[in-house]
Amino acid sequence: MTLDVHKVVATRPYPPRVSTFTKPFWSALNEGRFTTTQCRECHRQTFPPKLVCPHCWSDKYEWVDMPVEGELYSWTRIHAAPAVFQPLAPYVVGIVDLDGRTRLACPLVVPDGVQVSVGSKVRMVVMAFDDGPLFAARVLGA
Ligand SMILES: [Zn+2]
Repeated sequence: MTLDVHKVVATRPYPPRVSTFTKPFWSALNEGRFTTTQCRECHRQTFPPKLVCPHCWSDKYEWVDMPVEGELYSWTRIHAAPAVFQPLAPYVVGIVDLDGRTRLACPLVVPDGVQVSVGSKVRMVVMAFDDGPLFAARVLGA
């Protein structure tokens, strides 16, 4: 499933370190796909992607698409930001449950007129910065 892309005319304030292992994740995100690793032994997914399965310790994995829809478990608006994120403040971050399976933290995109609340429906999006992608969740409403 292809993610919507939000163009951001800026560079990422704290760009991720891309390793040989995580490069497939960032390449897929750049193409609008949200992926992670799935164990080839016990077939469980983990996020963030992991070289070794935390459930059965297998080092055999494959890249799979993640669910992209879910709901907001918690959220906050940050006014006193770390120095590197100060130009973005205030901004909203949240903890998102994707299809009830994966819980992750990420920035939230809140369209004008949409109220953020626990339980709001969300959909993952790509934030396409000038120097590369990041992921976020767009709040769709309660
Ligand atoms: Zn496993």
